[in-house]
Amino acid sequence: MTLARQVSLGCIADDYTGASDLANTLTRQGLRTVQTIGVPPDDLELPEVDAVVVSLKSRSIEAGEAVARSRDAEKWLRSRGAGHVLFKICSTFDSTDAGNIGPVMDALRADCGEKIVLVTPAFPETGRTVYQGNLFVGLVPLNESPLKDHPLNPMHDSNLVRVLARQSKTAVGLVNLATLTRGEDAVRARLAELAGQGVGAVIVDAVFDHDLETIGAVAADQRLSVGASGIGLGLARALVKSGRVEAASGAASGATVGGPAACLAGSCSQATLQQIAHAEAIMPVLHLDPERVVASPEEARRAVAWAAGRVSAGPVLVASSATPAEVAALQSRHGRQAAGHAIEQAMADIAEGLVKSGVRRLVVAGGETSGAVVDRLRIPGFLVGEEIAAGVPVLRAVGNASGDMLLALKSGNFGGPKFFSDALALMR
Ligand code: ADP
Repeated sequence: MTLARQVSLGCIADDYTGASDLANTLTRQGLRTVQTIGVPPDDLELPEVDAVVVSLKSRSIEAGEAVARSRDAEKWLRSRGAGHVLFKICSTFDSTDAGNIGPVMDALRADCGEKIVLVTPAFPETGRTVYQGNLFVGLVPLNESPLKDHPLNPMHDSNLVRVLARQSKTAVGLVNLATLTRGEDAVRARLAELAGQGVGAVIVDAVFDHDLETIGAVAADQRLSVGASGIGLGLARALVKSGRVEAASGAASGATVGGPAACLAGSCSQATLQQIAHAEAIMPVLHLDPERVVASPEEARRAVAWAAGRVSAGPVLVASSATPAEVAALQSRHGRQAAGHAIEQAMADIAEGLVKSGVRRLVVAGGETSGAVVDRLRIPGFLVGEEIAAGVPVLRAVGNASGDMLLALKSGNFGGPKFFSDALALMR
């Protein structure tokens, strides 16, 4: 078995969709990128890649557990040669005073021996900017944005120097826009000065893409950074510019997989409902009965039998999606969590059944639905390929026990009306 080649950039993402977003950003910058689901086995065979994004679900779990999983991920990435590790967090700095950003950063910093860590969630193209250490979401400071009402981690302070200091054991400083604008050397000098004062982490301002490039150039020479896809973009550009990575001319396409194709929709978003309506004209569509799904696994078995009898003739779509009124009615009968969980598990059952019956190309609509499906299929990772729609690439399974497969996993609102046929056209 050929063991993995050296990886230039290692990333640890604290949730799956954030990991995909980062993997997609890195690919767009010319880095050949694999996204793994969880910490992969030591002997995972990788294709030749520049970056690996390990996806964890560690954003809202207990801090000690998040630290343990992140350290495992870092160890794996370093063992594959990653000189720099980016701990990828949400661009709205989702966390509480108990963590998990500070504790994970502290642990990774101790493990790699970095003196001072650059931290910025800025991602100007999505409206996340940082000025004087304050995070803005679009036009308003973080604490005035919808994040103030987040169910798990309401954000009541836009000053990230304070927010991070409350979570971290180290003193936290600021590299402001004025310093950043003076260029890489000015940033390095400021870092050395702060490190000399015992500061172990800095929030870095960034308002424009070129700010990310300056940050990336400085960070690429260090062992660890913390941030969202924006700093990933800066790091990728710095690695290419400095010649440490040779930019790929396009996203990996690879050999044709072929074989039967199917689509699953568990998202009830407007966009997905419209995409299902379009799909009706070009492929057989099975609308699950959500009440029966919640009641028994029989409905999932019926769906697999229905699909298995049709996929040899062309792609099919199985959808649980319903209108807001129907969703509300089901939730009022069974509870929001229980209804959602039961349908996600049924979608995972159906995906598993479809793969057993030979499906090799699978499109899944819905963030949670996609998470349930990839967990169930136990695919260790994906090589990120061509973009089907903004933020939704074709994914090629890596190290998959059931062989070559292509997947597309989309968050509900993503993609145009013809998303399902657009995806299948690129998943050859
Ligand atoms: P999105 O990306 O649009 O948020 P998700 O898959 O993340 O999609 O979330 C959709 C949620 O709705 C999932 O928990 C799914 O199981 C649930 N769901 C799907 N169909 C129905 C339905 N008919 N009634 C109630 N909940 C549903």
